[in-house]
Amino acid sequence: MLMRNVLIVASESMPFVKTGGLADVVGALAKSLPNEGIDVRVMIPKHARIKAEYQDQLETIATTTIYLGWREKYLGVQSMEKDGVLYYFIDNEDYFAGPVYRGDDAENEQYLYFCRAVCETLSLIDFDPDVIHLNDWHTGMIPLLLKTQYPGHFKKEIRTLFTIHNIEFQGKMGFPFVKDILGLPDWLNSPRFIEAGGCANMMKAALVYADRISTVSPNYANEIMLPYFGLGMEGMLRARRTDVSGILNGIDTQDFDPAADPAIEAPFSASDLNGKRACKRALRDEFSLDVNLQTPIVAMVTRLTSQKGLDLVKYALEELLSKDMAFILLGSGDKKYENFFHYIAAKYPGKSGVWIGYHEELAHRIYAGSDFFLMPSQFEPCGLSQMIAQRYGTLPIVRETGGLVDTVAPYNAYTGEGTGFAFSTFNAHDMMSAIGLALSVYRDKPTLRKLRKNAMLLDNSFRQSAVRYKALYQSMV
Ligand code: ADP
Repeated sequence: MLMRNVLIVASESMPFVKTGGLADVVGALAKSLPNEGIDVRVMIPKHARIKAEYQDQLETIATTTIYLGWREKYLGVQSMEKDGVLYYFIDNEDYFAGPVYRGDDAENEQYLYFCRAVCETLSLIDFDPDVIHLNDWHTGMIPLLLKTQYPGHFKKEIRTLFTIHNIEFQGKMGFPFVKDILGLPDWLNSPRFIEAGGCANMMKAALVYADRISTVSPNYANEIMLPYFGLGMEGMLRARRTDVSGILNGIDTQDFDPAADPAIEAPFSASDLNGKRACKRALRDEFSLDVNLQTPIVAMVTRLTSQKGLDLVKYALEELLSKDMAFILLGSGDKKYENFFHYIAAKYPGKSGVWIGYHEELAHRIYAGSDFFLMPSQFEPCGLSQMIAQRYGTLPIVRETGGLVDTVAPYNAYTGEGTGFAFSTFNAHDMMSAIGLALSVYRDKPTLRKLRKNAMLLDNSFRQSAVRYKALYQSMV
């Protein structure tokens, strides 16, 4: 059967609101699908954080009242077109006037409301999706609600695809809470359905009820079948193995384009790397590094959580800083890591630069001006930063896990090939030897140039992902 209509639902999407890679992926997928002949729409909450320039352009298309159990709640639906894609915004200031993620039960309620609101909005808009593409636990109750509370409700039978961007966050809460808010029957509170480890679990609900499941790299699709990575979901994933696929993310190659990036000091490309030197000089000066331009800069742009391998960095960084290298970090998150990096910045002022916070333009300047990008993740569903770094000729140094395996070809000293550096065991000494190898290749200019070129010429665009998603959608109807 021919399918054309896809509704992507997520908690965040570029260019409107972003706290991490999920927003990049949703925005880039939405932008790419029309070229594949798909009529795609996107639905996200109307977060207060949505950039003001867009808030002013939103048009209200419906307002109504919906029920969360016995509670009456406002539901507004607003929309705007961006890059040929129609975006819908679920408006309710009780839930979305504050942070994108409120934490704990407040966050659970935010997104239980969102799941209900999305189902109700399907009758309010002039769009009949063949497939609803759901993303991460915030949307996890939608397949269950559609199958158990809305059968025969819509013009078409709607199929659901659930994509796992990060299995660490599952949306766990007491069953009475979710029962009360969504009006669920008690029999759902069983390990066969939505219960896991004594809690109602929104990710589990999606894994049980979605027609298909995908995740964001082929390697991570295999890893999450194992307890270490599956974090309690491995049993259900193994049971549904034939419905699970891994589709590698890509990056928005327009947004991240060293040849035409307004955020960086000078443009450059694989065939003319001169501008990269100017970017490095500007970055060095911006962070007041007291090193010459021959000194390699190793950088990180990251959420500060243990997932990103920051315990290894904490262990090794002072020793690394005794070598001829400088270190730059942009990130925010766990206080223990923020404090550590404040300490590093204070103790090694000329050799380290630290910016705690979220800053998109600065991220571009770091990708462009650094020599190496460190990403020693404990686990990494796909990872975008290493692909962005490669596009800017900044060689990633990664741990071999998840999508990092699918996207970084480790330097091979015998063939001279590669697009970065890798180590396999989650161990600070192994990380340090991978960094040591990178620093020695840095001094071998012909090899360095070759690896940079290899990295910059990789096709990490979202087009390839969009083609694969289209094939998956088509196999579902
Ligand atoms: P994750 O989604 O797990 O955070 P990814 O590598 O998939 O990791 O995507 C992270 C994205 O967020 C990249 O585009 C990265 O540049 C960006 N990012 C992370 N931290 C910051 C920050 N502090 N400031 C600006 N951009 C950031």
